[in-house]
Amino acid sequence: MHNWLAGTAQEGFSFPMLIRIALLFLIVGSSFSAGAAARNVILVTLDGARTQEIFRGLDVPTWQEQNKDQKAEETDLHRKFWASTPEARRERLLPFFWGTLMKNHGAIVGDRFNGSVMKLSNRHRFSYPGYSEILTGRANDREIDSNSKIYNPRTTVLEWLKGELRLGPNQVAAFACWDVMDYIVMKEPGAIASNAGFEEYASADPAVAALSRLQFATPTPWNSVRHDVYTFRFAMDHLKTHRPRVLYLSLGETDDWAHDKRYDRVIEALHRSDGYFRELWEWLQSQDDYRDQTTVLFATDHGRGDDPLNWQHHNDKLDGAAFVWLAAAGKGVTKRGNLTPTAEYSQDQISGTLLHALGIDASRYSPEAGKPVELFFK
Ligand SMILES: [Zn+2]
Repeated sequence: MHNWLAGTAQEGFSFPMLIRIALLFLIVGSSFSAGAAARNVILVTLDGARTQEIFRGLDVPTWQEQNKDQKAEETDLHRKFWASTPEARRERLLPFFWGTLMKNHGAIVGDRFNGSVMKLSNRHRFSYPGYSEILTGRANDREIDSNSKIYNPRTTVLEWLKGELRLGPNQVAAFACWDVMDYIVMKEPGAIASNAGFEEYASADPAVAALSRLQFATPTPWNSVRHDVYTFRFAMDHLKTHRPRVLYLSLGETDDWAHDKRYDRVIEALHRSDGYFRELWEWLQSQDDYRDQTTVLFATDHGRGDDPLNWQHHNDKLDGAAFVWLAAAGKGVTKRGNLTPTAEYSQDQISGTLLHALGIDASRYSPEAGKPVELFFK
């Protein structure tokens, strides 16, 4: 049988053979890029989660400042989360993130205590400007200078992807604790599925439908932010039901407990989030349409004050609030663990990194957006 790729000795490098060779390169090239790119991408953010806790775990002086009449060593918090090295402490705080995800499936940048720095490029250092920088790939200091409920002045990467990938109404979805997020995630109202703040969530699952009712019966201390557990449960239900290819999960308690000076609750919220990461990851890996085809990014919108007297705040006067971090895990992510070559990254690179994971040239979304953090993928 004639092998169409082999040709014959008599042909030499004839025109038909060159075409065959070109075809071969095309086939090999395209299957390589298809093999490296993710089918699905999930972005998870923890509001105002500092580099201190992410890379070094429980910070006792910060806790002590709020609890002067107690001995840290005698508390459950200390027993549960203290260890003598930063590496051991962060793994006690985020056991799945550090012990499994970063060990076996992914990598993180932004450990500024070891020379890897990621900073905001927006100057405001609060939430809307940070989320907008993440979702549009650049700061917008002039148009976004408050947390007001205005739709994003720029088309976000989420709504751009809906058009680019020709996805249906529920295929790009955002679930958030903070009610302003309905406005941040899109320019065109209703462009993507969004459920944020105290908002009803319709589910065919009676248990999830009950949770939707309970969110109104168990108000948080904050009028505009519901507890993470509801947001996470609704996002998981949407994932199972609608199988989105682009999902954004935005958790908020790490910031709100901090503003309330409840460092213990911040630590507990981080630890609970780690449980959510585990549940999300294990579910993705149990599903044919997500297993080994999904890249998950983890990020934060801003840092916070650096010391025990100002850690609860974040604003343009606090240098520590400019420091953030970015982790990636799953499909296409070849590096492992805490990447600490001396380097500086910017929050405006997150949208590009998300597109890069999907095999999409990030400059097609926005030539002005930050470049992908390619280090994750090589
Ligand atoms: Zn925030």
